[in-house]
Amino acid sequence: TEELLLQSEKLSSVGKIAAGIAHEIRNPLTSIKGFLQLIADNPTINKEYLSILDSEFDRIESIIKDLLVFSKPQQEQYLHCNIVELIEQVVFLMQPQATLNNVEMITQFEEENILFYCIPHQIKQVIINLLKNGTEAIENGGHILIKISKRNNFLNLIIQDSGKGMTEEELKKLGTPFHSTKQTGTGLGIMMTENIIKNNHKGFISVESVVNQGTTFTIQLPLSLEHNEEYN
Ligand code: ADP
Ligand code: MG
Repeated sequence: TEELLLQSEKLSSVGKIAAGIAHEIRNPLTSIKGFLQLIADNPTINKEYLSILDSEFDRIESIIKDLLVFSKPQQEQYLHCNIVELIEQVVFLMQPQATLNNVEMITQFEEENILFYCIPHQIKQVIINLLKNGTEAIENGGHILIKISKRNNFLNLIIQDSGKGMTEEELKKLGTPFHSTKQTGTGLGIMMTENIIKNNHKGFISVESVVNQGTTFTIQLPLSLEHNEEYN
């Protein structure tokens, strides 16, 4: 069950994404408007209405937060950074959520120092997205393995979780904007991840998944793009 991501039909046009965003934001807005009307008609405090309003605002907030990552790239710079250190920072950042979900994160670095030419903020976002998905896929405790190695001029990054995995059907939909199997999911994480890896760093990403066993994301990135004029 291997599915190569980044198939051209999945790379949505700006128009398709914009339509999706409009739709995703309009739903909670419609609901907020409706409940505000109910409150206006009967202004006694109704805790249930307030909690619905609160969660609808949260929904809009998470969509906007995910989209901001997407709209930033142009302002950001390519830098030489130690990818090992960068990943250690992200693992540290994700530790509380992992602990809360009884997830052990295991890192395996081939070397202490691997210099990588990248937009650090975006690579961080990719690792956060994948670790977050891994953690969310693990229901009763488990582990996520994070492996970094260097082959020729490529960085190999493997993120493997012992979570619930994906069916063939789910694998096909992976990376489609707003496709999510989660209550509070946005279905934007994998799309952003693909965009950052493929378009901004000229890398490759693939995924293998087995239901009830887990999921493995394999990412390959050229260590240095700096000799290519396009990226200077
Ligand atoms: P979100 O996390 O907001 O749902 P993503 O784009 O990050 O959006 O992921 C889309 C969907 O892909 C998820 O809802 C989930 O069904 C599936 N998915 C992604 N990563 C994993 C994983 N590691 N294990 C199982 N399912 C996953
Ligand atoms: Mg996600």
